[in-house]
Amino acid sequence: MKVSRLELLPANPDILEGVDDLIQLSYLNEPSVLHNLQFRYSQDIIYSKAGPILIALNPFKDVRVYGNDLLSAYRQRLIDSPHVYAMADAAYNEMIRDEVNQSIIISGESGAGKTETAKIAMQYLAALGGGSCGIENEVLQTNFILEAFGNAKTSRNDNSSRFGKLIEIHFSTSGKICGAKIQTFVQLANGERSYHIFYQLCAGSSPDLKERLNLRVAGEYKYLNQSDCMTIDGVDDAKNFHRLMEALDVVRMSKEDQELVFKLLAAILWLGNISFNVADNENHIEVVKDEAVTTAALLMGCSSEELMTALSTRKIQAGKDTIAKMLTLRQAIDTRDALAKFIYASLFDWLVEQVNKSLEVGKQRTGRSISILDIYGFESFQKNSFEQFCINYANERLQQHFNRHLFKLEQEDYELDGVDWTKVEFDDNQECLDLFEKKPLGLLSLLDEESNFPRASDLTLANKLKQHLNANPCFKEEMGRAFSVRHYAGEVLYDTNGFLEKNRDPLPSDSIQLLSSCTCELLQLFSKTLNHSQKQSNSFHAGSLDSKKQSVGTKFKGQLFKLMNQLESTTPHFIRCIKPNTKQLPGIYDEDLVLQQLKCCGVLEVVRISRAGYPSRMTHQEFARGYGFLLSEVNTSQDPLSISVSVLQQFNIPPEMYQVGFTKLYLRTGQIGMLEDKRKQF
Ligand code: ATP
Ligand code: MG
Repeated sequence: MKVSRLELLPANPDILEGVDDLIQLSYLNEPSVLHNLQFRYSQDIIYSKAGPILIALNPFKDVRVYGNDLLSAYRQRLIDSPHVYAMADAAYNEMIRDEVNQSIIISGESGAGKTETAKIAMQYLAALGGGSCGIENEVLQTNFILEAFGNAKTSRNDNSSRFGKLIEIHFSTSGKICGAKIQTFVQLANGERSYHIFYQLCAGSSPDLKERLNLRVAGEYKYLNQSDCMTIDGVDDAKNFHRLMEALDVVRMSKEDQELVFKLLAAILWLGNISFNVADNENHIEVVKDEAVTTAALLMGCSSEELMTALSTRKIQAGKDTIAKMLTLRQAIDTRDALAKFIYASLFDWLVEQVNKSLEVGKQRTGRSISILDIYGFESFQKNSFEQFCINYANERLQQHFNRHLFKLEQEDYELDGVDWTKVEFDDNQECLDLFEKKPLGLLSLLDEESNFPRASDLTLANKLKQHLNANPCFKEEMGRAFSVRHYAGEVLYDTNGFLEKNRDPLPSDSIQLLSSCTCELLQLFSKTLNHSQKQSNSFHAGSLDSKKQSVGTKFKGQLFKLMNQLESTTPHFIRCIKPNTKQLPGIYDEDLVLQQLKCCGVLEVVRISRAGYPSRMTHQEFARGYGFLLSEVNTSQDPLSISVSVLQQFNIPPEMYQVGFTKLYLRTGQIGMLEDKRKQF
């Protein structure tokens, strides 16, 4: 093949084929990194390291690298090849040894294996820290509840988590699990199919329960039958419903509370079936009084009339009077869906709270914990919306945390060994974070400001952003409603279409009032929580019917700050999950796809930082033993350090390519490769 000389990159010596840690590669270029991972993947070795990061390639099949035997082998340090077990073990040991909280931060794109990896880590910790009280089993069971209510099938993953989560596992002084706490982050829109729980409920509930909830098969509900995907291959919804009930029992949720939960789920399904008739020639509507309205009202604990009024009119303030305005079809549908969405989101939060109560850390808090973060990775599609905007902002924050930690590690290592580390370059993404967070002229502030203007549109938002943010080098102006952000992982084009609505996430006050008047205790509770959060929000105007709740963007930022604060006080361990193909099939390694993910999840950044530093490290002894015989004049009486220095001089390795530490030699990329070549020629 004829290629330009510029496109050629040096390959690594054979002895480095398939190394455990990418940093061991003498030439740290992209093709070498890709090749090394592929070489391992083809042998079902799905775990590798890139310095301190664990890379996990999704095998999409059973790779037989788990289970009790391997678990105890890692526990006894009989094996040390890269593995989630090894990482969880390191976290556990550091927690005990240093008495410092630890975190395992798992990221990667949808379908890459984050949730599975988190479960594997939890299983290891449960085995390691299992005590007599059985709480570790409870902790494992919570996964089932969270997945039933928080996961849905999407085109990219049959079991996609639609929320981010942090699970904090607490240990007693003797190193046994004594409790756990789950924290979840803003839920994303569900995918192609709705949340698993709805299908499970329809398929698995007993005839009695079905009758009490007036429940039909999933296909009869509009919220479920919009997609033609009523079942998932290899998934038994009825069986999963029974497993869910068992899990709810394990976390000690009473049968009465379980019934309340199912009741609200059924109410949501019936809400979705409510339909409207156009009542006049101005497109105003009236609610069709059918089984859907009566059942939804019955399950919620209000009268059909109250529900119909809330869905068809809106009270507005006219001077001193309150008048009811009829809604148009579009408004009525939005109101209905917002109500259903609100009930579901509140139910999810409430469930997490109940689970937390059950897992509550006992009085004897020891301050020792390992937190596992399973959060959506960086996303970049052809068209990106508000969801990607939030996700990518979160990833920018995590990336900064990651860079700083990594750089700190490098620095400590060099300082301990007396090496001048100021020669290591380091990029920070602070500018991009400023673009999002600066007040009043940052993306989030400007978005909130525009969300408060009733007449604002996607276009006015886009113009406002362009007007104020052009000076930031991470911002790029685009045509019409669009703008781009230069993220650490690449440039992303955002379309402002829907940004304002999604940021406002409105629930009309009529709906809030309706909920507070329902006899269902949970709905009353949800409406109170909402009122409470409105009062906390600074844009609340007492007495106003259109009181504004905290915007989604602001809420997201608040959650993110809290999360970062928590993570700051821990020693982090990073796992990057990689999806080798988009078909969810074993044995296919799509190089472009892998490369793009390595970029997005910061693996290439680690490689870059390492390249900027001195990735090859050998003790004076190792170096002298490996290359001393290449010297033209060998003086056997010399000490390892002098031999090493002679080798460096004989091969004219320039001074900027190495540093000599107290115990080790530090070499820049490529130097070991060159010496290996000499060794072969010898
Ligand atoms: P999302 O962001 O959509 O929640 P995710 O990164 O959490 O995606 P998972 O749900 O963990 O992805 O994994 C997707 C699928 O990949 C799993 O359902 C499973 O089939 C397969 N998978 C992931 N990890 C492994 C593994 N270690 N061994 C075998 N199969 C795996
Ligand atoms: Mg997941």
